[in-house]
Amino acid sequence: MVNELIRGIFSDALRVSLKDPAMAAFFARAAMAQKKAAAIRQKHEEQGLHVPPVMILSVTNICNLRCAGCYSRLVPREHKPEMDTARLTDVLRQASELGVSIVLVVGGEPLTRPDIFDVTRHFPDMIFTLFTNGTLIDEAVLQKFKEQRHVIPILSMEGHQNMTDLRRGAGVYDRLVNDMANLQRNGIFFGTSLTVTRQNYDTVTGESFVRRMREHGCRAFIYVEYNPVRPDTEDWVVTDEQRDEILAKMAAYRASQPGVYIGFPGDEKAFGGCLSSGRGFLHVSASGDVEPCPFAPYSDSSVLDMPLKDALNSRLFKALQEHRDQLMESNGGCALWKKPEWVKSLME
Ligand code: SF4
Repeated sequence: MVNELIRGIFSDALRVSLKDPAMAAFFARAAMAQKKAAAIRQKHEEQGLHVPPVMILSVTNICNLRCAGCYSRLVPREHKPEMDTARLTDVLRQASELGVSIVLVVGGEPLTRPDIFDVTRHFPDMIFTLFTNGTLIDEAVLQKFKEQRHVIPILSMEGHQNMTDLRRGAGVYDRLVNDMANLQRNGIFFGTSLTVTRQNYDTVTGESFVRRMREHGCRAFIYVEYNPVRPDTEDWVVTDEQRDEILAKMAAYRASQPGVYIGFPGDEKAFGGCLSSGRGFLHVSASGDVEPCPFAPYSDSSVLDMPLKDALNSRLFKALQEHRDQLMESNGGCALWKKPEWVKSLME
C-alpha cells in the first residue's frame, strides 16, 4: 500500500513537470530508482526484516527562528551531541542499502548545517525533501538545490501573510514568497509544508490559497495535521470531518490543480493505523536515537552503537508493530504522544 502511494506521488510529480524536460527526465529516473529500492525492501521482507521506504531524519535541533508552538522545541529530548557529517553519511548509506528511498530532512532548521549538501550528494538515487523555514536560502544554497535535484526544498508556512508571520515572525512570509520566485527562476522543483489546524484549515486547504501558491511556482503541498504537543491546544487539532474532507480535497486538486498533494499522517484508516515505528517510516533524531516518529521521543536503540538494520528490529519497534491497533488515535494528534506510560512499559 505504501509503495502504491509512492508510485502515485512520483507520477503526479512527473505529470506536473512535463513542461520542463530536464525536470521531467529527473522524475522519470527517480521513479525508476524508487522501484529498485522497493525491490530491495521486498528482498529483506522475504528474509524477515521489514524496511520502511521513508526515514524522517532530524539533522539538527538548532534553528534561527522561534516559532510559536514549535514541536522541535516542545517535544522533550535529552540534549546530546548531534551526529557529525561522517555519521550522517553512514546512516544514509545503511538506509540506502536497506532500500529506504525517501528521506524527510527536518530539524530545527536543516540549512543551519553547512555540510548538509556534502552529505546528500553521495545519494543521488534517494529523494530528500528538505523542510526549511526559508530564511537561509541564498544564492549559494539555490546553486546547491540546482545541482542536486534529488534534494527538494519544502518551505514551511501557516497560510497567508497574517497567519505565517503571526507564528513565525514578521517578514517571514515575504521572505518565503521571495524564495519561491528565486526557486522558480532557477527551475527548481519545490513545495510547501503546511501545519493544518482547525483554525487555518479553510485557508490552507482552500482553492484560492492553492492557486496562489501554484502561481508562485509551488508544485507540492504537504499538509501536516497539528499535533497538540503544547498543552491546552487540543482544540487546534482538525476535526474528523476536516480530516476526511482534506483527503477528498487533495484528490480533487490532483485533477484541477496538478501537483503533488500529501497528507501527514494521511489516511491512517486506509493504512490500518499509524505508519510510524518502522511500518511506513522511522525517525532518527539529531543525536542518532531511532524513534517511532518525531512526535514520539521514545527510543531503545541508537545508530551510534548498532547498525540501522538491528535498530529496525528493536524491541520497541517490534512491540509497536504488534500492537498497532493501539496506534489508531480517534481524536487526532499522535497516539504515541498520548500514551507515554504505555510506550514506556513496552521498553521495560
Ligand atoms: S522554523 Fe521550525 S524548528 Fe524553527 S522554530 Fe520554527 S517551527 Fe521550530
